Amino acid sequence: MSTLWVLGAGQLGAMLKQAGTPLGLDIRPVDIETDEVLPLAQDDIVTAEREEWPETAATKQLATHKNFVNLDTFPQLADRLTQKQWLDRLELATAPWFPVEEDTDADYAYQTLGERVLMKRRRGGYDGKGQYWLKQTENTAIPDDWKGLAIAEQAINFDEEVSLVGVRGKNGEKYFYPLTLNLHINGILYASISPLKRLDQYQSKAEAMLGKLMDALDYVGVMAMECFRVGDELLINELAPRVHNSGHWSQAGASICQFENHVRAVTNLPLAPVQVKNQSMMVNLIGVDVDYQWLNIKALELYWYKKEVRPGRKVGHLNFCSADISVLKQGLTELTLPAPYPEALEWLEKNL
Ligand code: AMP
Repeated sequence: MSTLWVLGAGQLGAMLKQAGTPLGLDIRPVDIETDEVLPLAQDDIVTAEREEWPETAATKQLATHKNFVNLDTFPQLADRLTQKQWLDRLELATAPWFPVEEDTDADYAYQTLGERVLMKRRRGGYDGKGQYWLKQTENTAIPDDWKGLAIAEQAINFDEEVSLVGVRGKNGEKYFYPLTLNLHINGILYASISPLKRLDQYQSKAEAMLGKLMDALDYVGVMAMECFRVGDELLINELAPRVHNSGHWSQAGASICQFENHVRAVTNLPLAPVQVKNQSMMVNLIGVDVDYQWLNIKALELYWYKKEVRPGRKVGHLNFCSADISVLKQGLTELTLPAPYPEALEWLEKNL
């Protein structure tokens, strides 16, 4: 069996390896800074845990391999400008937007998109980083170092944020997880919950949207689509051509988790419909230390990424899965975490 190389050696790479190991696959996440000569064989396969990367000795070796799955798709979705252009071309709903050019001024933004406009850097923004609000009431101007490097988006007054994770095989077959409800605080994902009965009514619409995009890109593997729900409408906020934080609950709550599905798809192994188990929720561990006493909490699974703890940094996550909602609610009361977690735990409690 050939080796599956993963560009990137963060938590997503580690979880891809974990999911592929029982299948007998040799999965090797690669630190992009390594100077090693990678023993890549002709029939090996390459995937990535991130949508963009600097050119380094390691990424050059991986990105020139003939079996790098979706290689052409990464730059198109990693740049918010080309990502938005794809959505427009496919007539998939997204927040109204325009590119911020060298000569764009804030008045144009207010006239075109309204009095609150969110600029997002074309590249490299994540977890709410790389955002800049323009507010007409405060007369905000566009800083020079955003010109030519950003898109501007209308502020969306959404009801809630949902995401869809799907997988597509080489032959075009597709499977999807149920929609996941997500809570972001300051642009960073704090908590997810899935499945939710009340989101069932949007499932087929969401699947059609992500399916259309994956087909158009001839995409292979797992892709995530983050949406704003506004009334009955879904507006696509962002696409990720990789396994995604809002799909982590599937490790506890589905017969095949998103990581295994991605590994199966890119290595051309059979895909199968996902059986969802009971009720799941996920709490991201952001800038907090590990506490092994959490393991006393019923239905809890801990994933600790062994990263240095820094404010705002994702350092682990907790999955919960149970058929008994009272077990999940009890678990929430037993978690003591600093601000802003009380808000996130309350949100989970309310939505269970
Ligand atoms: P992003 O980096 O695009 O995923 O944005 C991070 C978070 O910022 C989202 O999950 C939303 O909570 C918020 N956000 C992004 N775009 C908009 C928008 N156009 N209007 C309002 N909130 C937004």
